[in-house]
Amino acid sequence: MSQASSPRLFPQAEFLRDGRHNGPRIAGAGSHSIIDCFECGFRHALPLPDPAALEEEYRQNYYADEKPSFIAHAGEDQDWFVLAQTDRLEAFERRLGAGRRRLLDIGCGPGFFLKTAIARGWQAHGIEPSRQAAAHARSLGAAVTEDFFNAQSAPALGRFDAVNLTNVLEHVPNPIDVLTRAIGLIEPGGVLCVGVPNDFSPFQIAARGALGIGEWWVAPPHHLNYFDFDSLAALLGRLGVADQERTTSFPMEAFLMMGENYTDDPALGRACHDRRKRFDFAMELAGLKEVRRNFYRALAGQGIGREAVIIATKPQAT
Ligand SMILES: [Zn+2]
Repeated sequence: MSQASSPRLFPQAEFLRDGRHNGPRIAGAGSHSIIDCFECGFRHALPLPDPAALEEEYRQNYYADEKPSFIAHAGEDQDWFVLAQTDRLEAFERRLGAGRRRLLDIGCGPGFFLKTAIARGWQAHGIEPSRQAAAHARSLGAAVTEDFFNAQSAPALGRFDAVNLTNVLEHVPNPIDVLTRAIGLIEPGGVLCVGVPNDFSPFQIAARGALGIGEWWVAPPHHLNYFDFDSLAALLGRLGVADQERTTSFPMEAFLMMGENYTDDPALGRACHDRRKRFDFAMELAGLKEVRRNFYRALAGQGIGREAVIIATKPQAT
């Protein structure tokens, strides 16, 4: 592909190619570049690690060093997380109708989403490679497969009415393979929910300019893929599931735009996080659950919000 075919958004961008991946270089960190890949249709890092090598790295180094405080920290926001978990489960239930309540949460972590689902009558299954997190999810009543979600583990999981992936796709070297496998486990007419960080979003771009800082959200090799609503929806469409509903969580970048630079200040970051929790709780206490839901749907419609969450449906068999 020639330089001339680069999109006009990046007229000066260096054009990179690595195997089938090719596109303008839009950011970088350390030894990685981020390209807006023409082949994949979303932004991702180059070079990409080999999937098997990355799994081994996680097994050897990441999960081996888990600290006992990990689960405690993961649970301390659960009184707030339950709001978004309930939003999501109610959306699944509306689309599925009665009697279809088999849920798979891929990368379920300590199992708090599964716990909320079980309390609503779901049959909940998780798959999670961290031993400590998997054990915690089991203690909450979920069936948990302790493994990575890959070609070997996926076929044994069974079939589901709903499959959820929260904060998974940004980490994996081949999100197209992961989504294809996940969709393969969904019954016809079932739902897929994908949540990822909403990156290169309008508020991030505005905050970067206002504060004169770099792209703080670019974090390879921990984050390899950088989706937004449109690139995620386009990918789901290519894989045969229809984008039905978009939502998000509070646009944390608004704090940056108002001058509170939490990107290099973890204590300020925690304070801003506490404020957005209070924002959500205030509406809940006032009985404005539907207003909160519509507010986040409206932001999502403008490409704004910290996360890009899409609920899609698998077509009925014909
Ligand atoms: Zn690519």
